[in-house]
Amino acid sequence: MGTDADRRARVAVVGSYNAGYVAEVPHFPVAGETVTAGGYEEVVGGKGSNQAVAAARLGADVSFVGRVGEDRHAETAFDLWNREGVDATAVSRCEEPTGVGIVLVDETGENEIVVVPGANHELGREGVERAADAIGACEVLLVQLEIDDEAVAAAVEVGADRGLDVVLDPAPARELPPEILERVDYLTPNETEARLLAGHPPDSDVDDTTVSERLRSLGVGTVVLTLGADGALVDDGGERTRVPAPDVDPVDTTGAGDAFNGAFAVALAAGETPVAAARFGCGAGAASVTGFDVVPSLPSRATVESLLEDG
Ligand code: ADP
Repeated sequence: MGTDADRRARVAVVGSYNAGYVAEVPHFPVAGETVTAGGYEEVVGGKGSNQAVAAARLGADVSFVGRVGEDRHAETAFDLWNREGVDATAVSRCEEPTGVGIVLVDETGENEIVVVPGANHELGREGVERAADAIGACEVLLVQLEIDDEAVAAAVEVGADRGLDVVLDPAPARELPPEILERVDYLTPNETEARLLAGHPPDSDVDDTTVSERLRSLGVGTVVLTLGADGALVDDGGERTRVPAPDVDPVDTTGAGDAFNGAFAVALAAGETPVAAARFGCGAGAASVTGFDVVPSLPSRATVESLLEDG
C-alpha cells in the first residue's frame, strides 16, 4: 500500500520539444559568407522536453504536455520520452513541423542559435486544456516560454486552478501580462532574463536584490534567480536566501537552467521548502555543466546527492 513517503513526486511539464542540429564552425559566418563546418550532430532538445527528462532522471513521475509534427523528428522525440520514462500521452501532433534548433559552435565554445518553433507555437490553449486531468494529478506545474502565449496562459491557469505549485521559467524572456504573473508561485529566471523582465538591459550591472524586488512587485510569489556558478537567490518577499552552487569544472554550461528547473520542481513536488528545492536545483545544474550537450549531461539523483554532500 502506498504511503506519502514512498509515493513518487509528480511533475507536469508544459513546453517545447526541438530537434537540434549542432555544427562546429571555425568562426561564425558574417552576412553573405559561407563557412564550412567540421561536422554536425543531431541532438534532442527544447526547454520543455529537457526539463521533463531532467525531472524523470531525478525519480519523479513526469507528464509532458507539448506539440510535435508528423515528421521523423517527432518519432525521435517519442523514442526519447519512452526511453526516459516520461509520460507523453498528453503530447499532441499537428501539421506544422516539429520545432528545430540550429546551433553553431565556434572554436572558443561560444554559440549562435536559431530556433524555428513550428509545432511548439501551435500548442495553444486547447493543447493544454485537453491535458488538464493529467496536469491536475501532479503537485507541480513547470512551464517555460518556448510555446505560444495562449499555451503559457492556459498552463498557468490550469495549474493554479487545480491547486498545483506553478513554476515559470521565463526563458527565452518576453513580457508577460500581470494576470499570468499573479498566478505564478515561483519565477526562475537566469541573470539576463531577470534583468530583461525587470526592464533593464540584459547586461545591466544593477544588483540582484533590486532585480528580484522588481520582479516580485510584478505579482509572482517567490523569485528564484539562477546565478550560474554563484548558485541561486531565493526571494519570497520576507526573506532573501543565497544558495551556493557546488564547485565544479564546467565543460559545457548549455542546459544548466533546464537541469536546475527540473530538479527544483521535483524537490518542491516532494514537499521540500523552496530553499531546499533551490539547493537540489543547484546540485543538478552544477552536475549538468560537467558534461557536453544537454540531455546526455542531465544527472541522476545519486549524482546530485553525492555532489551536494561533497560540495
Ligand atoms: P541558464 O543555464 O538558464 O543560463 P544558469 O547559468 O544560472 O542558468 O545556471 C543554472 C544553475 O546551474 C545555477 O543556478 C547553478 O546552480 C548551476 N550552474 C550553472 N553554471 C555553473 C557553474 N559554472 N558551476 C556550478 N554550477 C553552475
